[in-house]
Amino acid sequence: MTEAMEEPSARAPRVAIVGGGMAGLSAAWELERWSRTGMLAVDLFEATPRVGGPVVTDLGSGFALEGGPDSFLTSKPDLMELLEELGLSGSLIGVRASARAAYIFRAGRLHRIPPLFGVDFWSAARAIRSTTLIGWPGKLRMGLGVVLIRLRPIRTDDRIPLGPQIRSRFGGEATDWLFEPFLGGVHSTPIDRLSPAAVATILPARWTAAASSRPSDRAAGPRRVPFASLRDGMASLPRRLSERLEGTRVHLRTGVVGFEREGNGYRLRLDNDSSTFADGVILAVSGFEAARLLRATGPPGAAQELDEAPKPPNVVVGLVYRREDIPISMEGTGVLVPLRTGLPVAAITWLSSKWDRDDPEAGKVALRAFLRPRDRDGSGPEPETESVERARLGLYHIMGVRAAPTYSVVFAHARAIPWYEVGHAARVARARRALSAWPRVELAGNSYDGIGLPDVVGSGRAAARRLIAALGTSLPARSEHAKGPAGPPDPPRPRD
Ligand SMILES: Cc1cc2nc3c(=O)[nH]c(=O)nc-3n(C[C@H](O)[C@H](O)[C@H](O)COP(=O)(O)OP(=O)(O)OC[C@H]3O[C@@H](n4cnc5c(N)ncnc54)[C@H](O)[C@@H]3O)c2cc1C
Repeated sequence: MTEAMEEPSARAPRVAIVGGGMAGLSAAWELERWSRTGMLAVDLFEATPRVGGPVVTDLGSGFALEGGPDSFLTSKPDLMELLEELGLSGSLIGVRASARAAYIFRAGRLHRIPPLFGVDFWSAARAIRSTTLIGWPGKLRMGLGVVLIRLRPIRTDDRIPLGPQIRSRFGGEATDWLFEPFLGGVHSTPIDRLSPAAVATILPARWTAAASSRPSDRAAGPRRVPFASLRDGMASLPRRLSERLEGTRVHLRTGVVGFEREGNGYRLRLDNDSSTFADGVILAVSGFEAARLLRATGPPGAAQELDEAPKPPNVVVGLVYRREDIPISMEGTGVLVPLRTGLPVAAITWLSSKWDRDDPEAGKVALRAFLRPRDRDGSGPEPETESVERARLGLYHIMGVRAAPTYSVVFAHARAIPWYEVGHAARVARARRALSAWPRVELAGNSYDGIGLPDVVGSGRAAARRLIAALGTSLPARSEHAKGPAGPPDPPRPRD
């Protein structure tokens, strides 16, 4: 720690990364080519005792109970490339063949989610006709929607939130019982505020006004299951990544509390009453936290654009049950629970049915419940016993489970998932423009470039590459990470 506190002298340029979530770790990984060879001094500051942010797995029961992400998109390359570089590709696991269905809870029973995305018109019409989720008036309205959406595609220019656009095409019933849990739930943002641009890539191409510039759903061919997980749990990713950071000094339990200009660089004040100097800084923290650091001393406008209203914490409860205590078959990936049900649970993942890994104990099953916020502003932490009780109440109504779990664990993530509201991309662009008054300061993470892990990894690495470019050196090929420390590039030279 003391080394990081040295004053600037004739030395390698110094980079500070604030935040040890997947964005900060990925940025550090991208900088390893320079840091391992001593051409760049990289310090990563993480306020908590561990890296990874919400990427956390509880193994206490023998099951991998995921407290944050349990899966990621394989179609986006950034995370798949990182796994390859870290030697983790062999740990990839997929969804079991027996678990391809997912359900929505309505009126006391589970309904299979109708396959509307990535299918042709007639398949969509058949799916609407046969679904038990929506009543006949709603089905007719949905059928009309399938036609309407061709005439009036969804506007992704971010002027109108997704909810009203879906509602005006497919009707209220389909919006509340199908699209709200499916699209709003994935992004943790209420659908009536959700930015269509933020979810454009998961909407069928022919539903959006940008359809002509994207491949059609048919051209994409048969769809394969696009998600994967890691055999030893998702937490093995940040763990392996931090173990492989040879050139980066990782300072755990070290929060950054202040940030100001000093000469050609920056001074960061730390919560242990010391400070450090850096030529370049990557703020791999939430927009809210970045705003807090920049508010008093940062360039005008940056903090205002980044600031976010308080959001309720994301609470996930992992549970293990005896198989005989679960009265349904659990063949599938899990259940989405529409807001309209009024239940305290938003979704349930059937972890042991979903993932193709050996169960640690025969006769037991693992699942997890995503809780809805207790109150609107989410003020005040919820006692763990109350979280478990709310999860059990949801499980009772949705799956008929009366028995107590044999094991439970609660994960509460404060401000872990930002809302991608209408105008999000423009706001981030304005924040980056305002921040550009401070050279060599970059933003990375899920508040800016997408909330999914592949986007977060890409955001961290891209921020590191921009910083390297600003420091004045050329970037070597990424694939060289796989070969270990790379040969020395030209030394980076700070410039303003
Ligand atoms: C419950 C849940 C389920 C999810 N499910 C999925 C999923 O299935 N698939 C998927 O792809 N994504 C999922 N996500 C999203 C994904 O996990 C996150 O978007 C991603 O992990 C965020 O990474 P990050 O580095 O941007 O932010 P974070 O991981 O939040 O990292 C920020 C870090 O900065 C630290 N920090 C904050 N302030 C300071 C400071 N002042 N000084 C020093 N350190 C500081 C924090 O402690 C934290 O470690 C899920 C998220 C949650 C919460």
